[in-house]
Order: sequence, then structure tokens, then C-alpha cells
Amino acid sequence: MSQPPHMSIEDRQKALELSKHSRQLRSKYKALIASGELTFGDFLSIAQSEPTLQRMRVKDLLESIPGYGKVRVENLMRKAMISPTRRVQGLGKNQRSALLEHFRLPSLTSRGSLLVLSGPGGVGKSTVAKALREVPGFWVSVSATTRSPRFNEVEGRDYFFYSNEEFDDAIRDGLFLEWAEFAGNRYGTPTAAVEDARDKGLHVLLEIELAGAQIVRAKAPEAKLIFLEPPSWEELVARLEARGTDSAERRAARLTLAQEELAAASLFDTVIVNERVEDVLRTLIRLASS
Ligand code: 5GP
Repeated sequence: MSQPPHMSIEDRQKALELSKHSRQLRSKYKALIASGELTFGDFLSIAQSEPTLQRMRVKDLLESIPGYGKVRVENLMRKAMISPTRRVQGLGKNQRSALLEHFRLPSLTSRGSLLVLSGPGGVGKSTVAKALREVPGFWVSVSATTRSPRFNEVEGRDYFFYSNEEFDDAIRDGLFLEWAEFAGNRYGTPTAAVEDARDKGLHVLLEIELAGAQIVRAKAPEAKLIFLEPPSWEELVARLEARGTDSAERRAARLTLAQEELAAASLFDTVIVNERVEDVLRTLIRLASS
């Protein structure tokens, strides 16, 4: 057997740094695919000019796609006649085409799904909704509310801030898909924008409280109702306590409510524990296209 080439300390250091850089690059691209920011097709195009990505195993890459576990990937690779150890650089023309066809974006003529994300206040629904805004193919509904804006909120991005009279008018004119009262304020989902987005083929997310979610279920039975749970009650208390934007009375009221809200998980189709936002996103992306 031939001996490994002799390397100086500097050469070895360089080699180590290079391999660290490659690992980081591969993880970065896997994360981009996992979060939905990069499509599989885009990845293949970028990989053409990046040797580190070319050397990735197709199997590892596919398993980083939301909803693609070991078995699904094995089946897909078998169907596309790709051997389990194949690397991106070794993909043949037909194998690439088979994968690209498989991951083709859904036709814009098919209507988008309606996802309803609910759960106790402080569980992190709005963080998830904010992250989902960045995922191509998704649209997050902007609600109307009679609550006053918090210092960091922007009209039209976080909410449409209505007076009580404006909210009454919108109810009277039938503009809401649902509306509910929460902690002394009213919140409602404008129907037209939701319908427009779904007609364009976008998956829509409503981030709303429990009563509103059940109204959506009655009005749109195809909606997928998702309940977001905290990892533990202590974690939820800590998150609510840490909220600098609420007064002490409001925080106390929210804790009492949160206890009742947690008991409602059984009314939902899916329960997701909010350990990591990336994992919640992955599940939402999978649910939307299932
Ligand atoms: P916040 O005041 O903290 O922004 O929201 C309070 C609660 O109202 C949260 O649980 C949030 O999910 C819910 N909410 C926000 N928009 C709507 C809506 O359009 N309809 C309903 N039913 N609840 C909403």
C-alpha cells in the first residue's frame, strides 16, 4: 500500500480549514433546502459551479428536503434509478430530469391549501408565521384588529389596525372569514385576500386564536388546523413573562388564558411541539402539500 503524502503542519492546517469550509457550505445549502428558501432545481444549478456541492451524496441532499425521510428518499431514488451512493456530480441526464420533474413547483392553477395555526399566547405562533413569510409558495394572512399597535408593529404588515367602528362595519359587510375577541380586543381574518392568494396557488397561513380556528373549520372544512404547543408549561410561562410589550395585568390575564387554551389541542388535526422553528416550518410545508 502506498504511504500517504508527507504534509507539513501548514499544509495540514490548510487541509483542515478547507474541509471545515466544505462542511459548512454543505450544511448551509442543506438548511436552505430544508427551509424551502432554495428549490431542488436551483440547488442543482448552483452545484454545477461549486465542486464542494458536486461531491454531496444525492441521498443526504434529498433527506434534507422537508417531508423526505429515509423510506421516501429510497423509493424516489429507486424510481429514478439512482444508486444509493451516487454523488451530485455523478447524476446522469435522465436521473437529473427525473428528480427535477419530481420536484417541479405545483401548477399555479391548483388552489393553495389553507393552514390555520393556533395555540396558547406566547407559544411562538407569530415567530413561526414570520419565518413562513419568507418561504416561497406561502402567504401569511394579515388580520384586522382593534388592538393598538405595539411599538415595533407596522400597519399592513403585522395587522390592519381598525377602530371599533371600522371593525363593526367590516363584520356587517361580511368581510371576515372569521373573527373573535381575545383579551379585550377583536381580531378578524379578511376573506378576500385569503381567497386571492389561494386562487393564485399560494398556500395560506392564518395565525389566529382557538375560537377563530374552529370557525374556519366550519366555514372551510378543507382547512388544516394545527395546534402549536410549548415544549413545557414552564417554558410558556417564561416566554410570557419575558414579553416586554405587555403590561403586568395583561401578562397575568394571558397566563390564565393560556392554561385554558392548552386544553384545546384535541380539537385540532395536528399538534406540533415548538422546539425549533425550522422543524415547525418543515412540518407546515409538508402539511400544505399533503
Ligand atoms: P396579539 O395581540 O398578541 O398580536 O394576538 C393575540 C391573539 O390573537 C393571538 O393568539 C393571535 O393568534 C390572535 N389573532 C391574530 N389575528 C387573529 C384573527 O384574525 N382572528 C383570530 N380569531 N385571532 C387572531
